[in-house]
Amino acid sequence: MKLKANNTNWWVVTDIDGTLMDHNYDLQPALPTIKWLNELSIPVIPCTSKTAAEVRDLRKNIGLNDPFIVENGGAIYGNDPSSKLEWELILGEKYEKLRSKLRLISSELGYSLMPLNDLSKLEISELTGLTGKAIELALDRQWSVPFLNPPDSYRKRLGEIASGLGATIYQGNRMSHLLAKGSHKGKAVIRLKEFLNQPDAKIIALGDSQNDLPLLEIADKPIVVPGKEGPNPFLREGISSGKFSLAPAPHSAGWSLAVRKIISDFEK
Ligand SMILES: [Mg+2]
Repeated sequence: MKLKANNTNWWVVTDIDGTLMDHNYDLQPALPTIKWLNELSIPVIPCTSKTAAEVRDLRKNIGLNDPFIVENGGAIYGNDPSSKLEWELILGEKYEKLRSKLRLISSELGYSLMPLNDLSKLEISELTGLTGKAIELALDRQWSVPFLNPPDSYRKRLGEIASGLGATIYQGNRMSHLLAKGSHKGKAVIRLKEFLNQPDAKIIALGDSQNDLPLLEIADKPIVVPGKEGPNPFLREGISSGKFSLAPAPHSAGWSLAVRKIISDFEK
């Protein structure tokens, strides 16, 4: 197969929410493609705003063994191939430190930004659709602070204040995330290549939101996965300029078709 004959080392690096999963957390249509990639020895590396606890659970359920980037690039985890012990590469700042920054931002902004972890379980369930144990896994935050999206009129000022305090904010579909300044998904992938001593690994990246932009920008094959209403407005410019390709269907179905198309083109 050409992929191996070329000796090119491809990684599939993928966002989870809205990309590999739809907004009901369904990823069934992607499972045969994940299995196929596994047979081809192409790693599938989750790169998500989710917590390590959530991704560990997901990996177990769908049979993934490759490293995983969590909390929007705040940390990377993986298993040593021989000992199976988990390693940890920390890139961001601790939750408690970021939590104090969120307090400072709130007071400067004159608007109380509400962390996800301060909501009741019922409120979290209504906001995220998560229930039971899944809520506990989502609250196990170490390297980022998710908070409720403030009204749009605060958005610009919020970014400016955060930047002045050495923090970055990414707006997601359901909430925003506060991270250490300079932490993002793209930087995490570059650090992972260094850590695994695979500087020549080529990246097929898939994402659906603003927080995926730094990941798509460092990829060799960047793919935007649309929602049912089309691609996220933050990513449209990259698609129209031809920098990013657009998956032919929403969520996991589009994810599968786009990945299979790229890999099949290699095999020709
Ligand atoms: Mg997403």
